[in-house]
Amino acid sequence: MVKRFQKILIANRGEIALRVHRACQEMGIRTVAVHSTADASAMHVRLADESVCIGPPAARDSYLNMAAILSAAHITGAEAIHPGYGFLSENADFAEMVEAHGLAFIGPKPAHIRMMGDKIAAKDAMRRLGVPLVPGSLGALNSVDEARAVAAEVKYPVLIKAAAGGGGRGMKVAQNEGELEEAYRLARTEAKAAFGDDSVYLEKYLDRPRHIELQVLADSYGNVVHFGERDCSLQRRHQKLVEEAGSPALTAADRNSLGATVTSALKELGYRNAGTLEFLWQDGQFCFIEMNTRLQVEHPVTEMVCGVDLVREQIRIAAGEELGYDQSEVHFSGHAIECRITAEDPETFTPSPGRVNTFHAPGGLGVRVDSALYSGYSVPPHYDSLVAKLVVHGTDRAQAIARMRRALNEMVVDGIRTTIPLHQRIMADPEFQSGDYTIHWLERFVARGHGE
Ligand code: ADP
Repeated sequence: MVKRFQKILIANRGEIALRVHRACQEMGIRTVAVHSTADASAMHVRLADESVCIGPPAARDSYLNMAAILSAAHITGAEAIHPGYGFLSENADFAEMVEAHGLAFIGPKPAHIRMMGDKIAAKDAMRRLGVPLVPGSLGALNSVDEARAVAAEVKYPVLIKAAAGGGGRGMKVAQNEGELEEAYRLARTEAKAAFGDDSVYLEKYLDRPRHIELQVLADSYGNVVHFGERDCSLQRRHQKLVEEAGSPALTAADRNSLGATVTSALKELGYRNAGTLEFLWQDGQFCFIEMNTRLQVEHPVTEMVCGVDLVREQIRIAAGEELGYDQSEVHFSGHAIECRITAEDPETFTPSPGRVNTFHAPGGLGVRVDSALYSGYSVPPHYDSLVAKLVVHGTDRAQAIARMRRALNEMVVDGIRTTIPLHQRIMADPEFQSGDYTIHWLERFVARGHGE
């Protein structure tokens, strides 16, 4: 049944709340912003049709406060909730609660959110669906002896990872058997502290992979379409800094074969709405690592090369509409790059919240800025440090890089420190420009004084 939403509550803040608001506006849907007391004058609150204060600054009392968010939806008469990314976006209990209250959750089925939130269950499901994995343990490790046995089989170095992991936490490398026990112990302790769950598993630690992920959309009628890959190999501490679509390393044939494997797996699973499957790619092999059951930070690069509005599609799917097109109608044009600009020192990465005296966004052909900044805004210290996503599109990668360099030079965020200077150095680096980099490249680039 297709139901047209009149009003959507956006359970998030910052640039992603604006991103969802923009899609709603263009679809003629009214928006409700929710905010903490620290965000009373934030841009997402200013632009929304209505807003509700849901609690004090700490996220656990506001943006993670499920009861307050559901009450806000109730009193404003919103019919659906878009969770953005982070916060409650991958919380299966929340998705279930939203549906139990007769509202639409703009995202996947709760059962799939739950399954993919447990990385061991996710890998097991993907293995059964014929998706290739990184070699490693089949389930959770019960003892260090078991870890030793699997490590001997897949060969060192190995990685111990948290089943409930996210944000690179609970991940420890063991280069050899001597380091294994310590890595196992540390990963469990960190996982317990961060996620309240100390289940860990083991994977072979790949020495020079690229991080390649595939964007997918699925409707409620079994139609599954992919929108190509994103290369997110430029990472620091397992966190993405720069993303590209497509990957400089893949051919159209690689993309098509990965796309075919993934779409047929998700069709069999009965998946719904947007999802991203993350892979490590080395020596021509794709190895699944995890699936994100939400919109991702880096989704704009896909939008730029495919000409699709992924949030609009998410809303249409949640309203019960059919996708209305098939894989043959998805076309890729040119190249897109995103730089994640954070309120951090570009060399030490110390957080730098505070007042932005002047904000000037770059513009011109092929430039997109997703940001909730404005001149006079104070970046609060309570939340993620991402303050702007600068995204460019060019006819090819070289043009996209030239455009990004030009746009970074135009951009002004005065009053706080940001990572703009780091991005300028990355874009100017011949190795980056060659496209020949792995997930370890950026860490070394930062360590050797940004290549100077
Ligand atoms: P999280 O959910 O904590 O972000 P992921 O499983 O998505 O964890 O991995 C994050 C990053 O860690 C990957 O993009 C990659 O850079 C690195 N990584 C993960 N698994 C491996 C592995 N088996 N070998 C080498 N690097 C890995």
